[in-house]
Amino acid sequence: MRRAVITGGAGFLGSHLCERLLGSGYEVVCLDNFLTSEPGNIAHLMGHESFRLTRTDVTGYIHVVGDVDVVLHFASPASPIDYLQLPIETLKVGSIGTMHALGLAKEKGARFLLASTSEVYGDPQTHPQPEDYWGHVNPVGPRGVYDEAKRFAEAMTTAYRTHHGLDTAIVRIFNTYGPRMRAHDGRAIPTFIRQALAGEPITVSGDGSQTRSVCYVDDLVRGLIQFVESDGHGPMNLGNPHELSILELAREVKRLTGSVSPIEFIAKPQDDPMIRRPDISLATRNLSWKPQVPLEEGLTRTIEWFRGQAPTEEGALGR
Ligand code: NAD
Ligand code: UDP
Repeated sequence: MRRAVITGGAGFLGSHLCERLLGSGYEVVCLDNFLTSEPGNIAHLMGHESFRLTRTDVTGYIHVVGDVDVVLHFASPASPIDYLQLPIETLKVGSIGTMHALGLAKEKGARFLLASTSEVYGDPQTHPQPEDYWGHVNPVGPRGVYDEAKRFAEAMTTAYRTHHGLDTAIVRIFNTYGPRMRAHDGRAIPTFIRQALAGEPITVSGDGSQTRSVCYVDDLVRGLIQFVESDGHGPMNLGNPHELSILELAREVKRLTGSVSPIEFIAKPQDDPMIRRPDISLATRNLSWKPQVPLEEGLTRTIEWFRGQAPTEEGALGR
């Protein structure tokens, strides 16, 4: 049985990944400090004989007993309001946390996967974004703490590969959505769904003409497992090239929820990227991977999940 360690395994993506790894026959060790997630995300896995949770902050030394075949480094605040509230934690987990996760992989002779992001492209001047585009990031802007931490993490991962011969892979994940996003995490899709279901105004920033390309979580996780099990190193984009404006996204959520909420235009955050769409030719060529879940179906499944949740109060971290 192959053994996987996943940092940030209790988060939105991490919890889906834990589930899929267990389903593919892996033993899974989940490391998380619940900085931006709830234990409820993995409560259903706690009784599984191949699943173990260790409450750990990966900016400290990571100790895992026994053999490890793969380390998947997903720990990091990921939503803009989280990393704006947690700038130092974000920089630390992207730098020191990545170093410790790489050190664990080196110690165990494991393959290492870094969860990087489309944010390394910043507010892009090339469209769509291929992996050989270097990006357009403001290091001292509010998003710099996240973007630069991930860019540093990519550089560190590359150095472990070239200098230590570690088997590493870098995936650049584009906006992904689905069940288990926090209603108050501030990202567009959970925010719009929460507002639409509550009959509150749907808050679209700027004039809503900025675009994103959104991928349903099941598609993304399938691609992640294929990449882990390949011998590729990346960087590799994974995301859904279906691009739409944020205003179109808000209208689609309103339509699918049957909501009467008005759309309200609010101030656009500083350095908010104007366009984003992945060039996924590399993933298609090397993994034969393509997203399969259309927007309407993915949104419908996510809305159903949110309908089944008890309304949550906004907490200290906007949870
Ligand atoms: P999330 O906030 O739901 O999950 C992150 C997890 O990391 C949480 O469980 C959090 O408690 C944990 N964590 C944070 N700091 C930690 C630390 N120091 N030690 C241990 N655990 C820590 O976010 P997500 O959307 O699931 O994102 C997961 C990863 O994927 C992140 O690295 C993020 O940058 C990357 N990513 C996500 C997306 C997306 O659209 N969801 C897009 C690009 C990249
Ligand atoms: N956005 C919005 N209303 C909200 C939350 C987000 O219009 O209540 C916008 C945000 O300004 C950005 C887009 O939606 O233009 C996507 O934001 P998200 O935080 O989901 O992803 P990211 O900006 O990190 O790609």
